Amino acid sequence: MTERHPKGLYVLFATEMWERFSFYTMLALLTLYLKNPSEGFGWSSAEATGLYANYLMFVYASPIVGGLIADRKLGFRKTITIGGVFFIIGHVLLAFPSHVALYSALVCLVIGNGCFKPNISSMVGNLYPPGSPLRDSAYNIFYMGINIGAAFAPLVAEGVRQRYGFHPAFAVAGAGMAIGMTIFWTFQKWLVAADKGPVQTKIDVMSDRDLDTRSDIEKIPEQNRIIALLVIFAIVIVFWMAFHQNGSTLTYWADKNTDWNSSKVLPAIISFVTLGFVSGKDVSGVISNAINPFWIVVLSYPLSRLWPWLNRRGLEPATTTKMAIGILLSSGAFLLLYFAGKAGGDVGKVSPWWIVIFYLLLSLGELLLSPMGLSLVSKVAPARLKGVMMGGWFVATAIGNKLTMIGQYWDVWPHSQFFLLLSSILFVMSMLLFILLKPLKRAMPGV
Ligand code: GLN
Repeated sequence: MTERHPKGLYVLFATEMWERFSFYTMLALLTLYLKNPSEGFGWSSAEATGLYANYLMFVYASPIVGGLIADRKLGFRKTITIGGVFFIIGHVLLAFPSHVALYSALVCLVIGNGCFKPNISSMVGNLYPPGSPLRDSAYNIFYMGINIGAAFAPLVAEGVRQRYGFHPAFAVAGAGMAIGMTIFWTFQKWLVAADKGPVQTKIDVMSDRDLDTRSDIEKIPEQNRIIALLVIFAIVIVFWMAFHQNGSTLTYWADKNTDWNSSKVLPAIISFVTLGFVSGKDVSGVISNAINPFWIVVLSYPLSRLWPWLNRRGLEPATTTKMAIGILLSSGAFLLLYFAGKAGGDVGKVSPWWIVIFYLLLSLGELLLSPMGLSLVSKVAPARLKGVMMGGWFVATAIGNKLTMIGQYWDVWPHSQFFLLLSSILFVMSMLLFILLKPLKRAMPGV
């Protein structure tokens, strides 16, 4: 294949890398900032967990509105620009120590993400003509950009926090977003073609392959397809409820219950990767947020080679089977933390390797579940309900995020018990999905 990716992809890659850098810088800091008695507000874990859950719910619900605004009124570039400006204002506001600044900041970030995230993701696909074989690989490259930004965010956040404190660290998030927007504005000439109105976007979405699949799927009654998607949404809710403990309880646990000095290797890696900017000793829980995106970057490529390899041998699992395996792996990840909690007697400290391996399992689970979710919805939803069902995917994520509130029991239950509960819920969901695989595949042929 001599066809090459358009330059616009790299503009979107760099913009989104910096946007996610700023988004995850803030998210890695938020809960520990709220709890911090001197620099933050001295909140209890339960209070911090509650605000985190609500923020994450709104931040994943607002893209529905942002997508509509771009489709109906402003187009992608303008809406993304508005999002970027709200993002910068939000991050800068967090650099000021007051409740008013905090809440105004969160509102700005919700608006910012709503206008930014869905539209930059749609633009990636719009860079390619209908049916282009490069589109899937474009999204893989784009997902790399997301996670490279997300992996560096907690490292920089922790370095700045160690030296200067929380508020300058939030300001760094604002600066990252400003870099992203500067790249976006400077090179936008390569994006003009991708900033199309809704009609062409719709034609774009129907690639030849989609049309083929649709003809298979068209034969299935709408009702069955909708029920199948609702099952998928239920799974997604539970997955994100567990996964998004990363910014709250898992950060608390990394902060209080892992001893980074017990390992020689990890602090050395941290100091080396950050060129000595972060002291690998006495790191806070902020740093743990770098582990998941690190694994995603490392695992994406081997997995992208594994599927075609299995496919050639007729062994590639269907999307739903991959999802069930993904949930089972996530359950295993939390089971590992149950043992880690037990090993530390729930209040003591254990080696940070527990959390590194935990994130390896969870990230594998994420890769089996999250990236293909959107394309599954777009293929299976009846044509007239496509928009609603796509919105449903984000709403499911938002509901899952709200349910991270379960973390309010963090200080009430023993930590090992908390992890075991999450592991059990995920296990039940995966078993349910395995049982439902046959009828699900009947309702979604070829997916
Ligand atoms: N980590 C990915 C991103 O930020 C996906 C997160 C999600 O869908 N919850 O884009």
